[in-house]
Amino acid sequence: MLNRRSILAASLAVSSAPLVFAQAMPLVRLGLVADAQYADADPLGSRFYRQSIGKLATAVEAFNRQELDLWVHLGDLIDRKWESFEEILKPVATSRHPVQHLFGNHDFDVLDEQKEKVPGRLTLAKRYGFLDKRGFRLVFLDTTDVSTYAHAIQDERTLQAQKRLKTLGQQGISQAQTWNGALGSAQMSWLKGICAEAAGKKSKVIVFAHHPVFPANTHNLWNDREVMQVVEENRSIVAWINGHNHAGNFGTRAGVPYVTLQGMVETRDTTAYAFADIYPDRLILRGVGREPSRELVFRTGSGA
Ligand SMILES: [Zn+2]
Repeated sequence: MLNRRSILAASLAVSSAPLVFAQAMPLVRLGLVADAQYADADPLGSRFYRQSIGKLATAVEAFNRQELDLWVHLGDLIDRKWESFEEILKPVATSRHPVQHLFGNHDFDVLDEQKEKVPGRLTLAKRYGFLDKRGFRLVFLDTTDVSTYAHAIQDERTLQAQKRLKTLGQQGISQAQTWNGALGSAQMSWLKGICAEAAGKKSKVIVFAHHPVFPANTHNLWNDREVMQVVEENRSIVAWINGHNHAGNFGTRAGVPYVTLQGMVETRDTTAYAFADIYPDRLILRGVGREPSRELVFRTGSGA
């Protein structure tokens, strides 16, 4: 029979477990949003474009209540028209945290003469880059790098991308779609270089991109296999996080978790965004609304 002291000891033993966990603070804390895809347009199917203003404002309020290092919008801030940026950047401007944008295919649904101004509108001095935070290298890719939409119709890069897409289509590759794209060779070399450098510093790399590369899907980058090979060979990379496929997705390959976040623009009255708490050995994704929560455990031997 338990006396009072043993009951107290037992209850302390139970209650101390979550306390110990709570004391371990994340090294890096982020907010994540994918595909706000705002436009002053009537709903189309399950996409409610106008609702994204309110949804993003609410998400930014939630981010503002937390201590975050930054939050990331994973691309497709707008659905169409240059004017859309002005409206959707209003809730973004209420953020007390730094904001990192990525390019999505829809961000280039503007007039040809406006395409080269898109990086400036999204406050991107470079089309891709990284940020080092307490033992982690956060890499922000440009998956619109080789695409049929990021530059003007007569631009040599557009013509080359159209040729490549045509060839891939003839090969019957399911993601050979106009709304996808590829990482070009210069960006691939850069990615390998900064991952090797991160490994030398014993840093772990988390990749953020608009387009997915895994699991196999019609939304993937044209060269998803080539990119995945780089991910698998560079053991400093511990996770890949993207948007673009509004339904969301998840898979693990060679110990690397690949997460597709759900699109905020979907549905009239439900949102989707997440907090990412990054610990030395894992990333805890705390989903809000439609976004599920997940625990992403990093592969061993990474970064060390
Ligand atoms: Zn997209």
